[in-house]
Amino acid sequence: MRLRDEIVALPAYRQGRQASADAFKLSSNENPFPAHPAVMAAIADSSPNRYPDATALAVRERLAERHGVDPDEVIVGAGSVSILLQLIQASCAPGDEAVYAWRSFEAYPLLTTIAGATAVPVPLTPDFRHDLAAMAAAITERTRIVLVCSPNNPTGTTVAADEFEAFMRVVPKNLLVVLDEAYAEFVRDRTAVNGSELIGRYPNLVVLRTFSKAYGLAGLRAGYAVGHRALIDAARSTQIPLSVTEVAQRAMLAALDHEDELLAQVDELVVLRDRVETELREQGWTIPPSEGNFVWLPTGDRTTEVAERFEKAGIIGRAFPGDGIRISVAEHASVPTLLRVVGEVVRDL
Ligand SMILES: *Cc1c(COP(=O)(O)O)cnc(C)c1O
Repeated sequence: MRLRDEIVALPAYRQGRQASADAFKLSSNENPFPAHPAVMAAIADSSPNRYPDATALAVRERLAERHGVDPDEVIVGAGSVSILLQLIQASCAPGDEAVYAWRSFEAYPLLTTIAGATAVPVPLTPDFRHDLAAMAAAITERTRIVLVCSPNNPTGTTVAADEFEAFMRVVPKNLLVVLDEAYAEFVRDRTAVNGSELIGRYPNLVVLRTFSKAYGLAGLRAGYAVGHRALIDAARSTQIPLSVTEVAQRAMLAALDHEDELLAQVDELVVLRDRVETELREQGWTIPPSEGNFVWLPTGDRTTEVAERFEKAGIIGRAFPGDGIRISVAEHASVPTLLRVVGEVVRDL
């Protein structure tokens, strides 16, 4: 069979080992709260025998109102990861370059490869932040897209608003910049970039948001992007038709209807995150400040060994061998176990 070499070389996706019943699965930055009753009711009300509204107009109208744009400047996707692939496919021909920070979201290299583009990863600074000057310097004639992740998954660091605007001023005006803000609702640092304030200011900027984290709809696949109509239209052209289900569309509307309650849960997670961070520092960990719903333990060469110890003790994090372990801040009940296990390990490091 003749397949693309770079696709054959990819590891086929295998779901992480299922956590044993008494372990805490803190590996996917999921929302730990049970779904809102209104979301469950919306799901029950849907009609699986019908195709969904192809462009999710009702959801786009709600989001457009919130961001002060036209509904045509919003696209809803089957997860924001899907929109990201659509944007890479819309902008990159084979051999064109996608610039992103590294380490960052695992999907970036994967989606770049799928699209046939060439990845240009730019190392984070020693304090685990985007190095925007180096990213700007990495832009060439072949660059077609730049991905900026704030807060950065998995390190939790944000890009500062002034830093980001300085970056936007130096990049070519015809170069697509995607600001991936999957964790926007968890940000409390007022100096951090906030994409919703930049919409309309830069015709080459697309802001990416998701219902997976703060809104607890990871399993339904629901994300969106806002940007200049030409860019959003291009993303629409590369979308798999009808991939955003009616169930997901109804659930998004219900989540928006009950947003205050959902954002109160986010506040709760933020308090928990800050407490976990403080206690980790008191234990002796050197960790970057996180503005997401997770913390980053830079365990370096000992990552695999440490992750195995965590797992044995009932804490399933996401290990990135050679770099570190990302641990989600989730259900309250996981925190005492997490702090105990992580505290035992730091003494041996
Ligand atoms: C979780 C996450 C997403 C969201 O993915 P969905 O496809 O919307 O579930 C996007 N970007 C980053 C950096 C993430 O961590």
